[in-house]
Amino acid sequence: MIPPSLGHVKGGGLSLMQMSPDLRPTCRYGTVIVITQAPHHMVDPSIRRVADLIRAAGSVVVLTGAGVSTPSGIPDFRSPFSGLWNTFDPMEVASIWGFHDNPERFYRWFMPVARAIRTARPNAAHYALATLEQAGTLDLLITQNIDGLHQQAGSIAVAELHGHIRSARCLGCDFEAPSDMLWARVEQGEVLRCETCGSLLKPNAILFGEPLPYESLRRAQEAALRCDLMLAIGTSLEVEPASDLPHLARRRGSRVVIINRQPTVADSLAEVTIRGDIADVVPQLVETLRP
Ligand code: ZN
Repeated sequence: MIPPSLGHVKGGGLSLMQMSPDLRPTCRYGTVIVITQAPHHMVDPSIRRVADLIRAAGSVVVLTGAGVSTPSGIPDFRSPFSGLWNTFDPMEVASIWGFHDNPERFYRWFMPVARAIRTARPNAAHYALATLEQAGTLDLLITQNIDGLHQQAGSIAVAELHGHIRSARCLGCDFEAPSDMLWARVEQGEVLRCETCGSLLKPNAILFGEPLPYESLRRAQEAALRCDLMLAIGTSLEVEPASDLPHLARRRGSRVVIINRQPTVADSLAEVTIRGDIADVVPQLVETLRP
């Protein structure tokens, strides 16, 4: 159950910004902010339909991709349109063998992404999904993003299929170090090596050619098989094995909803597809679930 907003007025109402100044409620401390949900009739019918599917489902799982983080200013670094591939061949620079061959080149390519991630803040979609979990509506949030913004927004049950950059691991002895201390050294052009064995340290983001984190993948697949409803949000569903998860869910008779800016290759699987700005649609959806 999603808790009502602060000052929620049943049946919806005008938000503060929509009111003329003389209608804005005031008290001796100044303006009282009244947060209300949009009137029911103003909500997009597709969003209402998805809200109904969520209410009817016993188990809801969300799969997110780069489209959830682009409103936070993080480029989709896997996308050929992001510009990040223009000067680099991904299989050369962002693969595990490319990293072994030329770690300096890897960090030159990766540092703009890492900087964007380290300064980014969660957006309204991240917070809305965290609210969904806190309300007991969401079983697992599976993400292909490595930015940790879901956790920053308050999500706890998160399976990070492509790893993260909170820490780095030694490729020789598995020694793990928090990456906060390491980025400054990388910025100075240093190639990070393990203090124990001298092997290369690599951020825990998964590179091409590396296996996915076993535990995250296992949780994701189990959740896909168990759920009644899977929402795929901000993902083009082109990268395996994340792209398999809606198929897995569908084969078990679960419903699938796809929310993305562009059409995806899996749209035919979906009970409902919504095209739009993720940071706009997802909060509206969660708001619609409030009593
Ligand atoms: Zn080591």
